[in-house]
This record gives sequence, C-alpha cells and structure tokens, in this order.
Amino acid sequence: MRVLVALGGNAMTAPDGSASADDQRKAIAESCRPLAELVEAGHELVITHGNGPQVGNILRKNELAAHELPPVSLDWCGAQTQGTLGFTIVNQLEKELSRRGITRSIVALITRTRVDPEDPAFADPVKPIGQYRDEEYARAMGEHGQHWKDFGAKGWRRVVPSPVPQEVLETATIISLVDQGSLVVAAGGGGIPVIRDGDGVRGVDAVIDKDLTAARLGHSVGAEVLIIATDVEHAVIGYGTRDEQPIDAIGAEAMRALVDEGHFASGSMGPKVAAVLQFVADGGTRGVITSLHRLAEGVAGDAGTIVTPDTPNIGRTRNTLDPRGTE
Ligand code: ADP
Ligand code: MG
Repeated sequence: MRVLVALGGNAMTAPDGSASADDQRKAIAESCRPLAELVEAGHELVITHGNGPQVGNILRKNELAAHELPPVSLDWCGAQTQGTLGFTIVNQLEKELSRRGITRSIVALITRTRVDPEDPAFADPVKPIGQYRDEEYARAMGEHGQHWKDFGAKGWRRVVPSPVPQEVLETATIISLVDQGSLVVAAGGGGIPVIRDGDGVRGVDAVIDKDLTAARLGHSVGAEVLIIATDVEHAVIGYGTRDEQPIDAIGAEAMRALVDEGHFASGSMGPKVAAVLQFVADGGTRGVITSLHRLAEGVAGDAGTIVTPDTPNIGRTRNTLDPRGTE
C-alpha cells in the first residue's frame, strides 16, 4: 500500500521536548524502527514530520545573535529544518533498513507549500511559536512588527499566521520518486510557506500545520492510508477528565459529530482529526491517529483511532493536478 506517515514532535525530540542535536538523532533513530517495519512489510512510504521545537531553536538563535546577524524569517526556518531533519531521517532510516538487509533509495526533498495570500490567517495570527517571554520583551518585539500574545501565568509568546495549505508544489516529483521505488521524506514542517509572485513564488513569514499538509499531500500522491504518529495511542472523548474514552474505529460522520462537541484541542489533536477527516473525504481508505510504536498495526487498521469514509472509497484514482489545490 502507499502510505503517508506524519511524524509528530515526539519522533524527533527527547520525551521532555528538548531538541539538542543529540536528542534529535536519538529520537529519530527510534522512530526509524517502526518506519523500517512498514518498508519491510512492503509499503510505499511518503514521510512527513513536524518541526516546532527545531524552529524554536532557530528563533532563539535569532534573538541571541540579533546584534550581529539579521534574524532569519520563518520560510528559511522551514527550509533549514527540512534540511537537518531530512538529512537525519535519511541517515537513520538507511541504517535501520540495512540492518534488515534492505537496500532502498531514500530521498529528503526541500518542499514548498503554496498558501493563499488572502487567507484570513494573515490578518489574524494565532499560532504560538518559540519561547514564553516577559511582557517587556514582547512589547519590544511588537515595536519591530511582531505579534505577541499574553498567555497569562506562563508569560507572552509570539503568534504567527498559520494559513491553510493549498498545494504542495513538489507533488509531481514526489509521485515519480515513489513510483520509482524511493522512500520520500517531504513537506517537513507542513512545507515551506510560499505565495505566487509573478512568474514564480516567494516565501512568506508564516507556519503551516503539518497534519493538514499531510492530508493534502496524501491525497495528491494517491496514498490509501494517512497515519498520524503522535505520543498517544488514540484520540479520546473527554480528554483530561477521569472518564476518558479511547476512540477506536469510527466513521467520518460520527467523528465530525465529536469535533462539533469540542473534544479535540485546537493546537494539538484538533488539526490531526481535521486532517484524517479531510483525507477520507478526499477519497482515502482510512486515516489513522496513533502512537509511533503502533505504526504497523495502525496502518493495517488494527490499532489507534481509525477513521473511515461513510461510503467506502473504492477504485480511487490519483490526481496529480489536485483540483482542491486550485480552489
Ligand atoms: P504532535 O507533536 O505529535 O504533532 P501534539 O503534541 O500537537 O502532537 O498533539 C498530541 C497531543 O494532543 C496529545 O499528547 C494530547 O496531550 C493532546 N490532546 C488534546 N486533545 C486530545 C484528545 N481528545 N485525545 C487525545 N489527545 C488529545
Ligand atoms: Mg507536539
């Protein structure tokens, strides 16, 4: 099967969220075991990943070096983290596969995601990034044109636009690589946000939700399964209460009803649920949310929160010119 795997924060950082180079290498080495299992089982993989803590590191360096070097913008942060994370995933996955006697071409692609310059997110930045700081710092940055928001006891945090991904510009390349038998790492951090500009595109100062991009890319490359690998085995009803109930297999309509009841937090589980719903609405066979170590079972539909379309999608055809991308 062709599978789109979206790796969350815990796949690339230490359990406490720290992201030194060593933490990242160790966590990625761990994550490559379940990925290698999928390859061994014969699946075609497109792998995408988050980059929040890694971008946080770059933003902190920006601050510390501001007296000497101009800060880099968020599109560059995206490109840089796609480079380092892609490089590390390729190395570790290659090693893990070779232990199993498997030789495969693995490629990490610098990937751009087109967003709409009229997306309402640009006028109303809400996605928090980087560290908490005090009010004085936040106000000083505000003078430089940044948006900062008061998060109460924890302090202030920068907020940036998180526009909806419209189209992954490298889609056709990704498809041809997968068709040739390569394992592809793409659209890390949701892809580098770009808008059309004259004959080409240019990067913008924004971030894109990696799970929403994963849904779009999964559809465009003709994946049958989208699996979102995170740090919990299931999405649950009544999150944070004493009677949490794991959600197992569920139809899209029933899942949408749970969304409407407000069960999924907007900055974390919400976009994952939105992503799997979009994926099955677009024709995917199933969208799965589960923990990294249940990956193989999740892909098979035997673990995690498994969302299926209300009417089975059969004989779906791949559409490289993703019509949804030009809406
Ligand atoms: P990732 O970094 O893997 O992309 P996030 O940390 O953003 O993932 O989101 C996963 C987290 O979402 C879980 O660890 C959990 O704390 C939180 N969460 C919020 N609502 C729910 C819910 N209804 N069910 C399960 N987890 C939830
Ligand atoms: Mg996280």
